Amino acid sequence: MIEKYLLVRACYGINIHSDAHGEYGTVLESPEIYPDISLITAATILNGSPDHEVVIIDAPIEDDLLPDKLIEKIKGTHFDKLILKTAAASVKSDLELIRQIKKIFPDRCVMLAGHAAKSLSEWILKNTDADGVITEPLDEYIYRTVYGREADMDLMPTPDYTLVDYRRYKDNSGNIRLTLKAGRGCPMNCSYCPYIRYYDRFGTRSVDKVIEDMKVLVSLGADIIQFRDQFFTCDKQRTKEICERIIKEGISVRWIIETRITSLDEELIALLSKAGLFLICFGVEAGNKDILDEYNSNKGRPEVLKKTVEYLDRQGILTMAFYIVGFPEDTWETMRETYRFASSINSSIAAFNEYMDFDLPKGSGPEVFSPFENSTNTGRPYHLNRDEVRYAKDLFSGLYTMEHDSLGKAYEYNYLLAKESRQKVSLLKSLEDDLIKMSQVIRETRSGI
Ligand code: SF4
Repeated sequence: MIEKYLLVRACYGINIHSDAHGEYGTVLESPEIYPDISLITAATILNGSPDHEVVIIDAPIEDDLLPDKLIEKIKGTHFDKLILKTAAASVKSDLELIRQIKKIFPDRCVMLAGHAAKSLSEWILKNTDADGVITEPLDEYIYRTVYGREADMDLMPTPDYTLVDYRRYKDNSGNIRLTLKAGRGCPMNCSYCPYIRYYDRFGTRSVDKVIEDMKVLVSLGADIIQFRDQFFTCDKQRTKEICERIIKEGISVRWIIETRITSLDEELIALLSKAGLFLICFGVEAGNKDILDEYNSNKGRPEVLKKTVEYLDRQGILTMAFYIVGFPEDTWETMRETYRFASSINSSIAAFNEYMDFDLPKGSGPEVFSPFENSTNTGRPYHLNRDEVRYAKDLFSGLYTMEHDSLGKAYEYNYLLAKESRQKVSLLKSLEDDLIKMSQVIRETRSGI
């Protein structure tokens, strides 16, 4: 008998990049929409199986598919199993959505997937209507369910973006930006890292498969391909082979990677640039070495980082550095060190993010995640309070944008967008238990009432 799956990502009027942060997800203030690659890959696996059927509903790319209409849409869909992909910022509302779905379909299996679901699994299974929690990455779980064995990265299919309206996955400039995984996990061991907690082993896809994936996405009209690997250039020889194949086979697309910047040298940078790479994202995290040591994090010597960023700039490759503000050990002085360090590295873009504590006490419930925000509350003592950290984050983001672009851009990106997003959050926080009212309020806000 054919088993029918319904895979869902909900939308609550806040933009959540559910694939980021080791699949805990990140709330974005900008309107760009990222696909959730494990959701798309899971759907692709089910779609390729003769014993399964799949429908995928990715609400963030549908017009006005807020929770009320999503529930109506689900009512009209035939399924045996429904899997809802959650994120830390939406888990409370996702659990309420599951409660509503189970009221309508008490006999169907409804499960929750994502890193936040895994972290709260004990609590969810005891206290909610969910029939199950998927505690491994969704695509790996689906592969094992369908084929009865573990998937290595080469066994995974190319994500079939045609299962959704993929042209809606646009960056802030309107480019169609699709994501791929050429590898996952990381051989490093920074103790704050959510990726290594979720992807228990480091693995890569063969060069042939990476090239095949890129060709498929280019044939669909992708303007930009973003690799979601945590350490793309871990193996220099393999990276060179990928670049050489892209050049030889004339794959014409702009692409983005995340990596450790210390793994780059001039020869590799020149080749990456020739192959179409235009943006490298990398973590620096903190300016204070004692804090980095506390978390077993070594991002490279400051002079190496600075020199490499300068060289990337000369080669025409943009750089985006990630920083964390508000480590429990952070003081005003250490956070100032982080900003000064960021200024000296001088990447094209600097993203300052609030520290999130993923050392959740056993049996934690959803209250450890702040609804619709990038913030956790695990009871761990901090030197600075949340308001102080948020102020530093806003200040650093604004200052950096002003220095590297203009005061006008800083106002637009680091003030207006942030203000709008916070207004929405305070509005939505009181409506988590009433998804119908929440949908109405979001709609009224959108139409300016
Ligand atoms: S280098 Fe980056 S991806 Fe790797 S463990 Fe550290 S923070 Fe995580």
